[in-house]
Amino acid sequence: MNPPATAGVPHASVPPHPAIVPVPAFADNYIWLLSDRERRRAAVVDPGDAAPVLAALASAGLTLAAVLVTHHHADHVGGLPELRAAFPDAVVHGPAASRVEGIDRRWRAGDAFGLEGFDARFDVIEIPGHTLDHIAFFARRIGDDDLRPVLFCGDTLFAGGCGRVFEGTAAQMTASLGRLAALPHDTLVYCAHEYTTSNLRFALAVEPDNAALSERVRQTAELRAAGTPTVPSTLALERATNPFLRTDADDVRRAAQTRLGHAPADPVEVFAAVRAWKDGFR
Ligand code: ZN
Ligand code: FE
Repeated sequence: MNPPATAGVPHASVPPHPAIVPVPAFADNYIWLLSDRERRRAAVVDPGDAAPVLAALASAGLTLAAVLVTHHHADHVGGLPELRAAFPDAVVHGPAASRVEGIDRRWRAGDAFGLEGFDARFDVIEIPGHTLDHIAFFARRIGDDDLRPVLFCGDTLFAGGCGRVFEGTAAQMTASLGRLAALPHDTLVYCAHEYTTSNLRFALAVEPDNAALSERVRQTAELRAAGTPTVPSTLALERATNPFLRTDADDVRRAAQTRLGHAPADPVEVFAAVRAWKDGFR
């Protein structure tokens, strides 16, 4: 039996999935690299840069079998042409609604597909807001060494925060985050950036009395001091500490009300107020 998130503080140091490792790129991107049990085939998520992926594949002796793309931003797709040239047989999965070139299989909400070379099936979840083409990939499990569900959510849900709303509306982003929040509590949340420390600094401004959040801030500082990624997190941890998944929490509503100068009408208005606050938060 799993205790509710409020019964104890979910630990910020989440044991990562054994088949998934980060390939750091640029200043703060993570390109997630999956490998099969025999360590022969690989898949990568959001390869913004080919060079670090090619180096990681070469050093592990892996062949690229598949690529997952969550949305069109260059820091997520910039490496595609070079990876396709190096591995012409790799299958690139991405959003149906995307203008990105070089996507072989274009998926929409409700679609599901098996990942080449892996014991895994991904459900496609449309999550517009950060961009209009943004999708997430959700697997009930990957292989059978670890039975936890896995979510690749790009720049929509971050550890302790969420992406900026560049192309969509606050209503779209609220609905998209709601779709992700409805996934199982033990889902491993693999987002595409290491933004956790600054996200949590903001979260604490929104909810200074959230004990789970204070504990997460402490644990996150320890992880970062040791050079350890704070990703993956879990949905339980996000629901307990991420203000953008807590638009129905009293303290988050109150914080939004203070910013707005009136009582927010609904969760969308709470989300919009908190997101606007974060956009200007330093
Ligand atoms: Zn982005
Ligand atoms: Fe990004």
